[in-house]
Amino acid sequence: MNAKTQPALSTRCVHAGEARDAHGSPHTPVYTTTTFAFPSTRALLDVVEGVKPGSLYTRYGLNPTIQSLEAKLASLEGAEAALAFSSGMGAEAALFLAHGRNGIVCLGDAYGGTLELLADQLPQLGIRTALLLGDEQERLDELLADGYGLVFLETPTNPVLEIFDIRALARKAHAHGARLAVDNTFASPVNQQPLVLGADFVIHSATKYLGGHSDLTAGALMGPAEFVAPVAGWRKNLGTAPAPETAAMLARSIRTLVVRVWQQNQNAQAIAEAMERHPRIRRVLYPGLASHPGHAVAAEQMSGFGGMLMIEVDGDTAATSAVVDRLQLFAIAPSLGGVESLATQPVTTTHHGLSDAERERRGISGSMIRLSVGLEDAQDLIADLEQALSAPRG
Ligand code: PLP
Repeated sequence: MNAKTQPALSTRCVHAGEARDAHGSPHTPVYTTTTFAFPSTRALLDVVEGVKPGSLYTRYGLNPTIQSLEAKLASLEGAEAALAFSSGMGAEAALFLAHGRNGIVCLGDAYGGTLELLADQLPQLGIRTALLLGDEQERLDELLADGYGLVFLETPTNPVLEIFDIRALARKAHAHGARLAVDNTFASPVNQQPLVLGADFVIHSATKYLGGHSDLTAGALMGPAEFVAPVAGWRKNLGTAPAPETAAMLARSIRTLVVRVWQQNQNAQAIAEAMERHPRIRRVLYPGLASHPGHAVAAEQMSGFGGMLMIEVDGDTAATSAVVDRLQLFAIAPSLGGVESLATQPVTTTHHGLSDAERERRGISGSMIRLSVGLEDAQDLIADLEQALSAPRG
């Protein structure tokens, strides 16, 4: 399929990568096998030596269910190649080990596990890392000139939905011979296509929108085959390919990705607009609102604004917890991207371990509630928030 003639994303979500079996199953079956038999030693060597594609050993990812999922994942992001992982962190760790040896710059806020890997763990292996916030972008040129080879960012970021200009940052990285990796978890491939905008790699916590039902843990990496190949070597020996059962569940979920995300976009926009008018809400951060500082860039590079938003309550941390505790439809839980709506105060979960000063530097306050908007009726969700916001101010 070339770019001009390829079917639309919703069609690819359903059909890409699917291999019908001899019985006519409309989807790739689950091959729970760990190893695969060959008709001859020559046929085995062809696969071992990469001369011919084929299945060999499940930990290598060379299993038809995993390979079928990977063809679908590649198609989602318009990539030449994709790898599936047992988690989003598995994808990040393999990417950093394969392509981060000259130094990794993380731009903007990121998921806590990513920050731990970059700030504490990779430096223990002698890998230099630099963590810049959005307002420190001017230091990026300096680091790239110093030979840092990989720029990593989320957009929109967790949890304040900061937006980075993927096209401009890809140009900057490439001008210095560096590569750009975008964590596209929050946007999903439905709302944003980083490879088309010039990024070299996309990673996903497939645990979130791609899985979509809060019932599986998986990760994905997409990019040009030449860049993805060395990552596969790390995945193989770190042992972080997904189980075939999980791969099949993830492929099942991706078939409905587009309709889920479209509905989540609409629900989140309706909630953001209602919350912006609410007297007990100080601020709403949602890229689909004209008031969001990144709205113009988001409107340019995203085709939808996603299901994640942040509301800031007029009240302190305890008063905000009281609002969260009164929610009935929204569950109090970390994670995101599922069909059910979730609410969490970042100070109690994703940013719990940070000092007050560090939280302030990252613009995180105790009055913030992060919402992951699901597939319930938008008016029901708004009514739930309104009744919770009528909690006494404490
Ligand atoms: N990237 C983002 C934006 C995340 O929110 C998360 C997890 O919350 C991860 C990566 C890590 O993914 P996983 O939990 O699947 O390892």
